[in-house]
Amino acid sequence: MSGLAFVVKSSDGTGVYNVTASQASGSLRITCDCPAGSFGTHCRHRFELVSGDARHCIDPSPASIEQLAAMVALSPLRGLVAEIGDLDRQVEEIKRRLKALKKTTARVMAGAD
Ligand SMILES: [Zn+2]
Repeated sequence: MSGLAFVVKSSDGTGVYNVTASQASGSLRITCDCPAGSFGTHCRHRFELVSGDARHCIDPSPASIEQLAAMVALSPLRGLVAEIGDLDRQVEEIKRRLKALKKTTARVMAGAD
């Protein structure tokens, strides 16, 4: 078993949480002691780290970040994280298009065009 430990800032920036990644019998386990992570639900601390985003990580070791990326690349998380990233981008694109369409609709309602 190999393990990695990261300290990340809480959303409000006042606290810290501990994220760990460990590999046993070929399966990768990632935990976070924030309220959401403690319940096993999605938390941004774990998601950001497995996505290679260490911006909320306090004093991250580049070697640990690289090692985590290598562990993720060999696990089913790789495809899941990629799909979530893809859907997030689609949501942002749809939000942008919806905002533009509403703006155009308001202009048409005001008698422009
Ligand atoms: Zn968390």
